[in-house]
Amino acid sequence: EFESEELLLKDLNAEQKAAVKHFRGPAIVLAGPGTGKTRVLTRRIAYLIQNGHVPAQEILAVTFTNKAAQEIRQRVADLIRSRKMVKQLNIGTFHALGYQILNENAALLNRQAPIAIFDAQDRKKILKRLAVVAEDDLESFNDLIGKIKLFLVETPEDETLQLAMQSYADFLESQNAVDLEDLIYLTVQLLRSHDDLLKAYRHRFKWILVDEYQDLNRGQYELLKLLAAGSEPNLFVIGDPDQAIYGFRGADVHYITRFETDFQKARSFRLKISYRCSDSILQASASMLYRGKGGGFLEGLHKGLKIRLVEEASEKSEAEFVARTIEEMMGGLRFFSMDSAITQGNQAQRIQSLSDFAILVRLKAMIPVLEKALNDHGIPYQVVGHDSWLHEEPVRSVIEILRCTLAGQSYYLKEGAMARDVNGQDWQMLEQLVAEQKTVSELLELISIHFVQPQSPKEKKRLKRLFELAAPFGKDTPAFLQWAFLGHGQDLYAPQTEQVTLMTLHAAKGLEFNAVFIVGCEQGLLPYAIFKEQAADVEEERRLLYVGMTRAMHYLFLTHARRRFLFGQTYQLPRSQFLDAIEQELIEARRAERPPKRKKDDGQLSLFDF
Ligand code: ATP
Ligand code: MG
Repeated sequence: EFESEELLLKDLNAEQKAAVKHFRGPAIVLAGPGTGKTRVLTRRIAYLIQNGHVPAQEILAVTFTNKAAQEIRQRVADLIRSRKMVKQLNIGTFHALGYQILNENAALLNRQAPIAIFDAQDRKKILKRLAVVAEDDLESFNDLIGKIKLFLVETPEDETLQLAMQSYADFLESQNAVDLEDLIYLTVQLLRSHDDLLKAYRHRFKWILVDEYQDLNRGQYELLKLLAAGSEPNLFVIGDPDQAIYGFRGADVHYITRFETDFQKARSFRLKISYRCSDSILQASASMLYRGKGGGFLEGLHKGLKIRLVEEASEKSEAEFVARTIEEMMGGLRFFSMDSAITQGNQAQRIQSLSDFAILVRLKAMIPVLEKALNDHGIPYQVVGHDSWLHEEPVRSVIEILRCTLAGQSYYLKEGAMARDVNGQDWQMLEQLVAEQKTVSELLELISIHFVQPQSPKEKKRLKRLFELAAPFGKDTPAFLQWAFLGHGQDLYAPQTEQVTLMTLHAAKGLEFNAVFIVGCEQGLLPYAIFKEQAADVEEERRLLYVGMTRAMHYLFLTHARRRFLFGQTYQLPRSQFLDAIEQELIEARRAERPPKRKKDDGQLSLFDF
């Protein structure tokens, strides 16, 4: 059923081994990017089962993004041959954990599984519809309610606010729904108020592992504290305070720094070797982060290539540069021939596949121009993100109508939605469709034919993609809905496909790529300051760039544009101040000149040979 102990511990250094073999009691692994923290976590899961004889269903591994959860599941599946055991493991995001607990106890909340999940956008519409808040205050109340739940604070003694919260909560209940913040907020409340339930969950999840602990917020912390019973729980957490990037969403890096005070007898492990990034990438990112103020940098396994710093005239030529470079690197051009630092091993690090590339941006709004350039060059890509197109029209309405039909509710989210009104007759038809036991994909298609009229090619394409993604769910509508609300991404996205990955810096956390482009390295974007009322948290932004840079194994491109069209305006932003701290000798810079014409048949020329 398993790999042997030897195999589970192979390819681990002494510190990693010690952390994997740690058995009972709290423990923390604190180490920098690429030092194998996540590898320790996944090996440990397999080791607990194999050597500790821990039943798979007692293990709970939590992380922050679906992509990360999927990655962990995949890595564990590679170690444990029994598919059944992999299935029994509880691996997911905090949101998914909360959702599971709420669904399992839906009756206590006057709901029925599967519970629907609304987001902040829905909340605003509902508050408006309930007419409990003045129109001008909608935004701030919406925000405030979200924060109260996120930080688990007492509701302030404000009559309007309390009334709004109560009517909103009643409405959610009537719709068999909760909101995103409730996934933690209500779960904590539920466990706090039902001792028997809490005991049962503690009994069920005896081994808890948390990745990216530096990004924990108050609600998540309270949930963990509840589940990890006693003073010496089997709570194993890993993280890196230098990679804390979710302060803006209420994460508090202090939970990681005070872990050893929180859990007095905690063992602590440090890892010192980086297996991901080259020395030059490690050194450049550390100089950028620490600016000479302490904080030694990790050692990589190989010296590596210089970092490419590229200035372009506009966001369009920047995107064009990215697409062309990918094309040329894929074409096997001797792209880095002029670099003296090529070490022996680098032959093997040649780009093999489009999945070796990631393009990272600060804002989602920067993605379309890159998509266009990739399309122009015929380069396949996938956009990875939190608020994906599933939450945009017309897809959103189609999914919502399906959910309402399933729950036997009338469809209410009319405002701003693309769907036409759903009347009584329609309703009969919808219920008939569900009764006919059609597949999710067929249901979605029928709903879209009847109720939404996709206009643009983009909308049509989105709907088509939705039907495709729903296909693997067969007739399991509840599973599909959970996926649509939270993403669960187990089998739907294959990481090894021939596609370039496009995503935000935030979404890239925990991942790694052979070649990384960070576009838009400009003052105002990094740190982000355009349109922001409060000044951005500059240190958090700096860590965000650090996370981005340390995703790269071998090739790192930092690009910026002199002129950028964004949000309907043209900006002229200077280069990001963050780049100033990187040593000159680690950089190879190129200014926006006309791109050198490549001579046909001459595979020798590099883009940097100008
Ligand atoms: P991050 O802080 O970015 O999340 P991490 O510390 O979680 O990074 P991993 O993703 O676990 O690091 O590991 C980085 C890379 O190094 C992975 O490709 C992993 O397989 C590899 N790796 C880790 N440990 C070893 C080792 N002992 N020998 C060889 N490769 C290793
Ligand atoms: Mg990791």
